[in-house]
Amino acid sequence: MEKTATGTSKNNWGKRTRSVHSGTRRSQYGEVSEGIFLTQGFVYPSAEAAEARFEALGEDEFIYARYGNPTVRMFEDRMADLLGYEDAFACTSGMAAVSGALTALLKAGDHVVSSRALFGSCLYMLEDVLARFGVEITLVDGTDNAAWDAAIRPDTTLVFLESISNPTLEVVDLRHVCDVAHKNGALVVVDDAMATPVYSYASACGADITVVSTTKHVDGQGRMLGGLIAGSKELIRGPIEAYMKHSGGAMNPFTAWTHLKSLETIVLRVEQQSSTALAIAEALDGHANLTAVRYPTHRAHPQCELARAQAETGGTVLALEVKGGKEACFKFLNALELFTISNNFADAKSIVTHPATTTHQRLPQDQKDTLGISGGLVRLSAGLEDPADLIADLQAALGAI
Ligand SMILES: *Cc1c(COP(=O)(O)O)cnc(C)c1O
Repeated sequence: MEKTATGTSKNNWGKRTRSVHSGTRRSQYGEVSEGIFLTQGFVYPSAEAAEARFEALGEDEFIYARYGNPTVRMFEDRMADLLGYEDAFACTSGMAAVSGALTALLKAGDHVVSSRALFGSCLYMLEDVLARFGVEITLVDGTDNAAWDAAIRPDTTLVFLESISNPTLEVVDLRHVCDVAHKNGALVVVDDAMATPVYSYASACGADITVVSTTKHVDGQGRMLGGLIAGSKELIRGPIEAYMKHSGGAMNPFTAWTHLKSLETIVLRVEQQSSTALAIAEALDGHANLTAVRYPTHRAHPQCELARAQAETGGTVLALEVKGGKEACFKFLNALELFTISNNFADAKSIVTHPATTTHQRLPQDQKDTLGISGGLVRLSAGLEDPADLIADLQAALGAI
């Protein structure tokens, strides 16, 4: 197959060009739109060729879709290029990527330091699954550099964090954490869902592995579940691929093809949704029925300077603290006409979530208190509608409390 140049070292393309072209492979038919190779297996011209392929896979050679597939490989190469890494492995979901990366890289007796403000399923992987296999976990306040310094020890083998936490939008000083971890010989794995693949700074700050829930901004239209692990060729085609291909979490080709189509518009979508999120934060800041408006790069965010130093924008999600707790909050949610009540984010449709009673319902109250997941907390995901319509909807619903 003819292949378009990929890899950050091979071209100087900007992110718009990369998200349209990187990783493209064309068959002998010269198709314009990426081919979908909906096949489990591959045929060999001779017994000798089959033997040779099982001995060593060449770059455009495949043996079974659980190990790799041409459509999935196009998606992996395009994402790796966009995120600033050499290679990537695509998975069935964001959690398949998180659990795959952690399981592939850890063994009994290892020590892991992680930020406490984690997506519920990530916390379950660390505290319930990995702990059961003899991995020691220390959780820290991710916004406190001194806490990271104190927790990372010479026997720490891995550091895990969300660059921007969900749902409270706390920002981690990623360069600092990477420096401390690397001084102690630990790998840094970043869950980068909130930062978005368009504005991801994990690779630039030194993160060894970035895991992405492609369910979010890559799909962006509420259809497919997917995930991806990006890193150096050595890590991805070494322990990560070995674990993923044998444990069975490889992305299916139809999802990869849909994601390739979505990547063609990801920069336009995420730029628009991020600017809408900031516009909402500006419009609602200081509203009489709110105690706080939180958006990483907005001036009212306690870590605004750090967020601005790390990325151009704070992403497509913001958080509001409604006065009057859960009761007032539910009145607000039920009065919204344009925002949909759901638990996903990064969709073209604007979404509103009440974390305390949905995504984070199962957390014990003391943990909700520590993480700031109060009855009044609302997570907003800015969609692709007219920003003025969204702001009008929010203001009308706040007025109805
Ligand atoms: C959504 C999400 C995940 C899980 O992704 P799925 O695709 O739903 O499996 C993991 N981490 C974070 C931060 C997320 O937002």
